[in-house]
Amino acid sequence: MKVFICADMEGITGVVHRDQLLPEGHAWPEARTWMTGDINAAIEGVLLEAPDATFVVNDGHAIMRNVMLETLHERAELVMGPATFENKPLCQTMGIDASFDLFLLVGHHTRAGTPGGLLSHTWSGKVIANLFLNGRVVGEIAMNSAVAGSFGVPVGLVTGTDRLMDEARQTLPGDPALVAVKRTLGPTAAICKPPAVTRRLISDGAALAVRRLRSGSLETLDPRRPVEVVIETYRREMTDQALRCEHAERVSDRSFRTTGEDAAQALERAWGAVVRAHDEAPFWLA
Ligand SMILES: [Zn+2]
Repeated sequence: MKVFICADMEGITGVVHRDQLLPEGHAWPEARTWMTGDINAAIEGVLLEAPDATFVVNDGHAIMRNVMLETLHERAELVMGPATFENKPLCQTMGIDASFDLFLLVGHHTRAGTPGGLLSHTWSGKVIANLFLNGRVVGEIAMNSAVAGSFGVPVGLVTGTDRLMDEARQTLPGDPALVAVKRTLGPTAAICKPPAVTRRLISDGAALAVRRLRSGSLETLDPRRPVEVVIETYRREMTDQALRCEHAERVSDRSFRTTGEDAAQALERAWGAVVRAHDEAPFWLA
């Protein structure tokens, strides 16, 4: 069995604040230890049910060099390095293909616009106000599951906040295992279970995902093709910059669209445009 783990950091055990999310924050070293621990717990859970399983882990957060290779489970390989469009056009799912059997989401967060959500955003908190996949507003758990679905790989596990489990029930197909490692209080606070507890819960959830895969209760998220992605940006200038990407078309003053033969292609093109949307002229030229 081949398992792809798409990992983010905002939904990791004990992570509640920006101080923990970037290397310049004083609490980042501890948070990356917890991130590696949550991922290893998912791997160990799968191995309880499928002892021969192998894993590819995508470090999908910010600089994408958070997971500690030194202590990552030896059955896994790690996709490392920033998601520049040249390097990693599939961003948080770079490395997935049709040879995988199961897709797991570890440490994810609620989408942009979630009222009171913990560290909520979609891809880029600076640029994206809303992202629509075939007309439906979604967050990263559905976007990444749709890329996996393009390759026929079903989603089996989601870990993060209690509120993310609501989003998973609303936007993911089938019956993935849902593991809440903390209860949301607001944008930068939560009631957190300690790692010793969450690692057991995540391991149990990953083992359950394998059993559900075998019983046929997991499904692929594969939107009707061709697939359209519409992105609303916070500012007009961001859409203007995104339109420099050849696959982006204007929808309105503050939004653009990309299309593709499947979700992977449409989202890959959208990511290319979002990367460009970060380019801004200096204020005195804008
Ligand atoms: Zn992140």
